[in-house]
Amino acid sequence: MRQHPTSQPTVDEAASIIRAGGAVAFPTETVYGLGADAFNEAAVERVFALKGRPAHNPLIVHVADEAMARHAASAWSDRAARLARAFWPGPLTIVVPKAQRIPSAVTAFGATVAVRCPDHPLALALIRAVGGPIVGPSANPSGAISPTTAEHVRAAFVDRVPVLDGGPCAIGIESTVVTVAERPARVLRIGAVSAEALGVALGEDVIIGALPAAPGALPSPGLLASHYAPTAHTELVDARDLAARAIPPGAVILALEAPLPDSPSIIRMPREAGAYATRLYAALREADARTPTVILIERPAGESWLWSAIRDRLTRACAPRE
Ligand code: AMP
Ligand code: MG
Repeated sequence: MRQHPTSQPTVDEAASIIRAGGAVAFPTETVYGLGADAFNEAAVERVFALKGRPAHNPLIVHVADEAMARHAASAWSDRAARLARAFWPGPLTIVVPKAQRIPSAVTAFGATVAVRCPDHPLALALIRAVGGPIVGPSANPSGAISPTTAEHVRAAFVDRVPVLDGGPCAIGIESTVVTVAERPARVLRIGAVSAEALGVALGEDVIIGALPAAPGALPSPGLLASHYAPTAHTELVDARDLAARAIPPGAVILALEAPLPDSPSIIRMPREAGAYATRLYAALREADARTPTVILIERPAGESWLWSAIRDRLTRACAPRE
């Protein structure tokens, strides 16, 4: 493989690296992705190796438009088209039957492929310059906190992966994943696009949650219990309990509404869901970097879909590792 000339490539340099079978990190509106040619099996294998990602966790294929998505799919139903037209470019990943040309490693040997058109000018320019779809798992070691800045990517991969720097990600949590390869449509991972909005676009009911996995099969490993995890032990705590209990020595707290006295151990989180999501992974990293005895996260009580998506990530960040 050709060595990358610089750790901050131009879009054209990044595209040549990808066309030559290499990997480049790129910004999207959700989190930074690790881009590689989705049709090149060796390149895809390298992405799994770089991330230490288990082979049973499929990758999302990133496309520049609906026409390119059709090249990754063996069938592009009217339902897929409706979703693409309603939400692309945007934080929605659509699971459809896989084209033969997509190496089976991409889909974790499954018959379906997940495709998404990201809403970020650099991501779109990169995919267009490559001239075909690119895989784009979050650009972090498997299981760790997702990156929302180029700096986060560099911290993990140093100079092993060049990074296209597009500034901080606007949304900050991963896309909603919905499958239309079955009926009814099913949300496999919750992100910024709500089940209700999907239902309106499809004109059908949309259900939420993965099917119970058959032995050896994972319908959506984005639903793995432990994910997005800091190194430090991390706990979700209700606001009431947080205010009532003595703060353990060496703890760092991600506080929201709880009336806590200002202290260096407290990281104040934004009260609006969109701003909270944007800030979440950077705040988890800041907390972790202080090597605390424990990270206590005030459980957000908000009822909107986005708050549910945030609680989903917080729950996984706190889950015991397998
Ligand atoms: P990440 O690349 O870290 O955003 O994770 C991608 C996630 O997309 C996976 O963990 C799965 O949850 C989901 N995904 C990717 N491909 C498929 C597929 N073919 N079927 C179901 N879910 C998928
Ligand atoms: Mg990830």
